[in-house]
Amino acid sequence: MFHGQLLHKQMHEQQALTQRWQTIASELDASDVQLLAVSKYAPDEAVEILIEAGQVHFGESRAQNLRDRALRWPDCHWHMIGPLQKNKAKYIGRFAAMWHSCDDIDTARAVASHVKGRLLPVLIQVNIADNPEQRGIHPDLLTSFAAELSQVEGLQLAGLMGMAPKGGDLRGSFRSLRNLRDQVFNGSFGILCMGMSNDYRIAVQEGSTMVRLGSTLFGAGRSV
Ligand SMILES: *Cc1c(COP(=O)(O)O)cnc(C)c1O
Repeated sequence: MFHGQLLHKQMHEQQALTQRWQTIASELDASDVQLLAVSKYAPDEAVEILIEAGQVHFGESRAQNLRDRALRWPDCHWHMIGPLQKNKAKYIGRFAAMWHSCDDIDTARAVASHVKGRLLPVLIQVNIADNPEQRGIHPDLLTSFAAELSQVEGLQLAGLMGMAPKGGDLRGSFRSLRNLRDQVFNGSFGILCMGMSNDYRIAVQEGSTMVRLGSTLFGAGRSV
């Protein structure tokens, strides 16, 4: 491609990304739902475009990438949404604005030992798919896990996170996560983080307070 054509294509992609963000952000804003831009597959240029558009909260699924981006863009809030190995706990304790994927008490203690001078908000990942292959605390064990977690100094239990089963009963599983949130948090005070690109509208109807959007925001081509 000639240089001029390439430039034109890049400008077009930037505008398309900004436009998608504006549409989704205002849709969610109207429902009072927070948008977490899942940037795990997005290149730095795309992150830059969204920051310029006004996005502040980003989700990463790898601890080192989160650290790198938190150092590069310290004014944004970097959320950890992926499975965490204990030996990477320091990156999350030091750099994450929120940890969404907590489902193990030993890892939680390891993360907490690296939190200095603040409380790190933590969501418990709940296995609402009732599929042992998915991550997360089983609903039956949630109350005791929450009690244990709230004893860990440096962490602040802030809500629940869950992923709907692929091809299963989306609405039913979102509804059960909401009920669990209401039970554990005595009403609607806790964060209810549910909904991804393919199911976020249903999640919002079922009371989600934060959705995690990757491919529908950054473009499907970028998220493979
Ligand atoms: C990748 C990822 C997302 C975003 O998925 P999309 O379908 O691209 O919106 C959301 N949540 C978690 C935990 C993820 O790992």
